[in-house]
Amino acid sequence: MDGRAPGGPRDTDAAVVVSRRGWNAAEARDRTEMKGPARTVIVHHTALRYCSRPRDSLSELARIQRMHMQERGFDDIGYNFLISGDGMVYEGRGWGIVGAHAKEHNFHSVGVAFMGNFNEEFPSAASKSALLRLLQVGVLRGHVQPNFVLVGHRDVAKTECPGNNLYAVLPKLNISVHNLH
Ligand SMILES: [Zn+2]
Repeated sequence: MDGRAPGGPRDTDAAVVVSRRGWNAAEARDRTEMKGPARTVIVHHTALRYCSRPRDSLSELARIQRMHMQERGFDDIGYNFLISGDGMVYEGRGWGIVGAHAKEHNFHSVGVAFMGNFNEEFPSAASKSALLRLLQVGVLRGHVQPNFVLVGHRDVAKTECPGNNLYAVLPKLNISVHNLH
């Protein structure tokens, strides 16, 4: 928690991130604060429906949160942020909160999921720029170390995630994001 009222006014990321209240998230059962800025950003895909309209994204977010909390027994939606094809960023657990997205890496990483199955879909330009903007804000606000490493889930676990087409663009995104600051 960083002292702001849930769903209340935001500072630098005002135009970028749709707050939990904005997508009508259920309340988290528990939240564990991270002990310092994340040193790794782990990119995922949801491997579910590709979303590129707010209407679809909102129902999908509710579905994912329900799945994570009811079927998997997580305290909240697992990811820190989710990005849709139209370049909207949705707050999951948000900054500074330990996620449930990559076993053994949750305590020092931020998990960002692209909504869709990127073995089939290709990440849109809007979603890639949204990730860059989000991470720039994360660094500026001290939630992510400036020299963080951007990896795909498959780099740290035995999984196909984040899908071949998304995984393929990560090296380029890694270079771009580190040239932004
Ligand atoms: Zn993943």
